[in-house]
Amino acid sequence: MRIHNFGAGPSTLPLDVLEEARQEWLDFQGTGMSLVELSHRSKAYGEIHREALGLAREVSGAPADFDVLVIQGGATLQFAMAPMNLLPEGRMAGYVVSGSWAKKALADARRVAEVYSAWDGAGEGFIRMPDPLEVEVRAATTYLHVTSNETIEGIRMVDWPQTGVPLVVDMSSDYLARPVPWDLVDVVYGGAQKNLGPAGMALVFVRSSSVPEGVARSLPGYLSYRWFGESDSLGNTPPMFSVYLMGKVLRRIRDRGGIPGLERETAEKAELIYGVIDGSDGFYRCPADKRHRSQTNVVFRLPDEEIERRFLQESTAAGFVGLAGHRSVGGCRASLYAGLEMSSAEALAEFMEGFRRATRG
Ligand code: PMP
Repeated sequence: MRIHNFGAGPSTLPLDVLEEARQEWLDFQGTGMSLVELSHRSKAYGEIHREALGLAREVSGAPADFDVLVIQGGATLQFAMAPMNLLPEGRMAGYVVSGSWAKKALADARRVAEVYSAWDGAGEGFIRMPDPLEVEVRAATTYLHVTSNETIEGIRMVDWPQTGVPLVVDMSSDYLARPVPWDLVDVVYGGAQKNLGPAGMALVFVRSSSVPEGVARSLPGYLSYRWFGESDSLGNTPPMFSVYLMGKVLRRIRDRGGIPGLERETAEKAELIYGVIDGSDGFYRCPADKRHRSQTNVVFRLPDEEIERRFLQESTAAGFVGLAGHRSVGGCRASLYAGLEMSSAEALAEFMEGFRRATRG
């Protein structure tokens, strides 16, 4: 039996995708070898690569002036690559510090470029995203960096700040589970290991005109968006297995209604779990402001830490994994990514109801 995996990433992948990969594992399309043994210059891999990147463009709806890139190093490398590629001398970038991941993005950007905090939610405990009018953008700002969903605190950006400068968006934890505001963005990035596949790479969309010529020339190839764009992300050996599985996950997302379909499915799962929390008469509590609650990472607390420990123990025994909150904040968290079956969300809702009744009497 498959376990109910609520991990925040790497996370559960659709069973049909895993089964398909298993069938193809030892003899990939009659080549007599597995996909990970093929040359990345082979025809068979070339087709996989082109199809996966094509599906990323199709499902996301990225306009033609965006390059679709796959880059190793996860979302974390993008914390540095975005400022390195987008900011020429004398220009700077603002960062909306909405939670733990935005803080890391700003800290890395600070090492390579001139950047500043345009809003900071730390004082309030990162329980909400800013009202767009609270975001302060300075002169000489080339982009505003935002995190569409803070995976650790469980909050999501409901309103994109429209300040007149383009956005660079970290969409790691709700990638393709909501529309991308293409008119407002220059770069969108995210690690694949939540909604889109296994770990090992980031999927990155870059408006090609946003990378100044001089900046691109001064960067080592692997750190240059232009280099990835010009080589179709085949300038060196790509993360072939991750690209291959992402292609299968993307095809499944497309066949189930694309972004609107995934957005709907995610909302249904989130409603189930938030419904239990809101109907629990204060037994379960969400620290997040209600309007900014994440759809993909439901963060919740129980009456005290002893009861939380018991909740985690008993849920593990009942076949659930990944429900502990991030080690930096504690508590509990249920991640509801694309691969999670509705039946797993239903099972968790039922378990939470039962646990509350058993504990409270
Ligand atoms: N940004 C967000 C919003 C994340 O959730 C994560 C990973 N949990 C990262 C960035 C870092 O991603 P990676 O591990 O792929 O570098």
